[in-house]
Amino acid sequence: MTNPLKRSHKRFLINLFGEDNAVFEPASLAIYGTDASKEFSWPWAVVRPESEEQIIELLKWANKEKIPIVPRARASNVVGACVPILGGVVVSTLKLNRIIEINDVDFVAVVEPGVITGDFQRKLKRYGLFYPPDPASADISTIGGNVSQNAGGLRAVKYGVTKDYVLGMDVVLPGGYKLSLGSRCHKDVVGLDLRSIMIGSEGTLGFFTKIILKLIPMPETSISLLLGFSSLDRLLHGAISILKMGLVPVAMEFMDSSVIHCIKKIKDFNIPDKANSLLIVRFDGNKADVDFSVKRCEEVLKDLDVVFYEKGEGSKEDEIWDIRRMINPAAYQLGKMKIALDICVPRSKIVEIVDFSKKKGEEKDIPVLCFGHLGDGNIHVNLMYTGDEMERSVHLVANEILNRTVEVGGTISGEHGVGILKKGFIKKQLDRHAIFIMRRIKKIFDPNNIMNPYKAY
Ligand SMILES: Cc1cc2nc3c(=O)[nH]c(=O)nc-3n(C[C@H](O)[C@H](O)[C@H](O)COP(=O)(O)OP(=O)(O)OC[C@H]3O[C@@H](n4cnc5c(N)ncnc54)[C@H](O)[C@@H]3O)c2cc1C
Repeated sequence: MTNPLKRSHKRFLINLFGEDNAVFEPASLAIYGTDASKEFSWPWAVVRPESEEQIIELLKWANKEKIPIVPRARASNVVGACVPILGGVVVSTLKLNRIIEINDVDFVAVVEPGVITGDFQRKLKRYGLFYPPDPASADISTIGGNVSQNAGGLRAVKYGVTKDYVLGMDVVLPGGYKLSLGSRCHKDVVGLDLRSIMIGSEGTLGFFTKIILKLIPMPETSISLLLGFSSLDRLLHGAISILKMGLVPVAMEFMDSSVIHCIKKIKDFNIPDKANSLLIVRFDGNKADVDFSVKRCEEVLKDLDVVFYEKGEGSKEDEIWDIRRMINPAAYQLGKMKIALDICVPRSKIVEIVDFSKKKGEEKDIPVLCFGHLGDGNIHVNLMYTGDEMERSVHLVANEILNRTVEVGGTISGEHGVGILKKGFIKKQLDRHAIFIMRRIKKIFDPNNIMNPYKAY
């Protein structure tokens, strides 16, 4: 790889970050060229800032020199959002990982962007506090990355997603200007909500240096139910009946018959064959409320065609969730590679879109697994395949599923974002005027298009 950075550029970066935190050797750069999407492009340099002042100086310089800047946290995004497609300097948040404040009176925390989400959640337990957003990647992703992708997760039915917990942030813009957006107040309606524009912006507008989060009290306890139904249709009916009772589960996760089949192959799994689809429902809160919800749920279920029922508390609850965690490894029995869509549709369209996806897969001999956050209509559709010769067919099927998703009023991404992998599809969903306005907004924040260029929109 010939590195387009001039000697003077390298000198600038070494002076600003020190020899240890400014990297130019190809062997080290290679790691920073990719993320969980497995896409790859060479960066020209990687830097690891330790302070906001360094980021301000970096963005002043990069804007003047018109050098692309690619923020990168733990690279767990699955859409190529931190792949440096035009090269440039990858800016790692690895060393920006301080929890600055946890305030149990204001119910607020202030953190640097590189704090690992799972570590933060565990630390809050000591204060009796709770930060609900819970992507399955919580132990391998950061608050900054979650804010940048507006990550969702398992608890969204009751608690919402990342954006519902971001009260404010400090952001450094190209040119080195620092914006402090929002506040530490739980309500704040002054001016246009620029904080919301930053959430989900996939690193394209500015570099977050500090994030102010809303916290809530830690729920006392939880119980999960594992329910088997004879069909996905019956499962959906059951889930809607639970919601209509006014019960608010934390999570409602479903798995279709192909997923159950795959898991049974790797785990001795006490589920009868007539259970064609599975639902996991979890309630949390104080003990009396949780017991009440479970009791009411059991009453509703009497009238539904539940073919399997298991209640889990404590370690038994963990066992139920182990089944959910097993999906990813189990899926690879059906193919060495996958295209993982995270579409979201109105709940009434879930069965239609699952049936459509499976039918399209069958037509091309591609195994399709459907599972995910039923409570939010967020379906993970995994198209499994082996060998490059299958790739074209898999992409055709994925394309048809995305088209149908938009036709039924859904979205091409419920939580993973767009990055580079889905950028070609956004025109299916977004009006061209909306895309035009998004690009104009980017130009205001980033006139020279240096922040994570050509991503997302
Ligand atoms: C096994 C697995 C399970 C997953 N489960 C879920 C899930 O349940 N829900 C979900 O929503 N996602 C999930 N994901 C996707 C992924 O974990 C999320 O997108 C996560 O938010 C990415 O966080 P990260 O810290 O790894 O960020 P990265 O992947 O490093 O970066 C993501 C984006 O954030 C930008 N960025 C990072 N830091 C900053 C900063 N300081 N300032 C500005 N921009 C910044 C980057 O440029 C990039 O565009 C999963 C991924 C895996 C591999």
